[in-house]
Amino acid sequence: MFHAPDFKQLSKQIAAKTSADVEAALSSSRVTQDQLAALISPAAEPYLQQMAMQSSEITRNRFGKTTQLYAPIYLSNYCTNRCVYCGFSADNLIKRKCLTLDEAEREAMILHDRGFQHILLVSGEAESAVDVEYMEAITLRLRDKFAAVSIEIQPMSTEHYHRLFLAGITAVAVYQETYDRDMYKQVHLAGKKSDYDYRLETPARVAEAGMREVGIGALLGLSDWRAEGLAIGNHLAWLRKEFWSTAFTVSFPRMRPATGEFEPLQIVSEQNLSQLIFALRLFDPDVGLIVSTREEARYRNGMLGLGPTRYSAGSCTAPGGYGDADHEGEQFSVGDHRSLEEVCAAIREKGFDPVYKDWDCEFQTGMI
Ligand code: SF4
Repeated sequence: MFHAPDFKQLSKQIAAKTSADVEAALSSSRVTQDQLAALISPAAEPYLQQMAMQSSEITRNRFGKTTQLYAPIYLSNYCTNRCVYCGFSADNLIKRKCLTLDEAEREAMILHDRGFQHILLVSGEAESAVDVEYMEAITLRLRDKFAAVSIEIQPMSTEHYHRLFLAGITAVAVYQETYDRDMYKQVHLAGKKSDYDYRLETPARVAEAGMREVGIGALLGLSDWRAEGLAIGNHLAWLRKEFWSTAFTVSFPRMRPATGEFEPLQIVSEQNLSQLIFALRLFDPDVGLIVSTREEARYRNGMLGLGPTRYSAGSCTAPGGYGDADHEGEQFSVGDHRSLEEVCAAIREKGFDPVYKDWDCEFQTGMI
């Protein structure tokens, strides 16, 4: 079992790093967890350019000149949790909707016709609306139409994840939001999600269930972003050791405006986000790094090829939002409003290839 980090200790470990530690990390052929702390530290800020160059080189060597693309489909915005930062929080008076299987399939086919082959099914956490049977049924409908169907829904048991794996789900994302236990308690006021440890143990259950890929991450803006980065690195290293055949991705969603008007408790700049991405790439050359449409087009264009490997595109965060132009009930407002075609054009302009799938279901058949 991965043990929850002493968050304050992580902050202290990072703050103690010097430029000599950073230089040692940058010349290391294998960055250790302690060296990751140096790369995330304030002492590394003057080395950002060098980190970007090294990160870019590693990314090109491991992933080629490609950027994978996906789009989320919001199935439901019902939620029983009270997370103070989220537009779907049970406290918020928003229009709630859970798509029927036919409606969800229609949304998926809109994305399919736009050219997407990788979709991420997302929902608020309310088992009365979206449970394992619902997820199994929608997956069975979509599995032959897309190269990859991933999910970002409430944490489940290993058994339920395995059922969804057999149905055709290839990847599960479950973000800890914050590894800072005290802050976790302050921002998750009620509901199952307020159990910090159950959430922390979820990525391991996903991997145990046989999923091909597990996504972890933290919501930036709640606590010390540097310590969140080190906690993610430690969690990732533990998962890699326990589940060597599983692929991992990391996402660093920065807080966006949402219903409830929650203001970030910590400011995380684009420069800070870039430092985190470069540091994680140097720490783990094989990890997939995701930058979603929370970030603006200008930033995402600038980061192409420097570390991230996967972008979302053309995203809407309300259930039924692709088919209904007058949709309501978004989780948050996105920062990059470009269509898939526009994102692809920007990727090609940089000399990269947009990749609509990184996975073929034939591989999965061989694994079962
Ligand atoms: S963050 Fe997730 S669990 Fe929390 S209120 Fe939003 S949808 Fe629900």
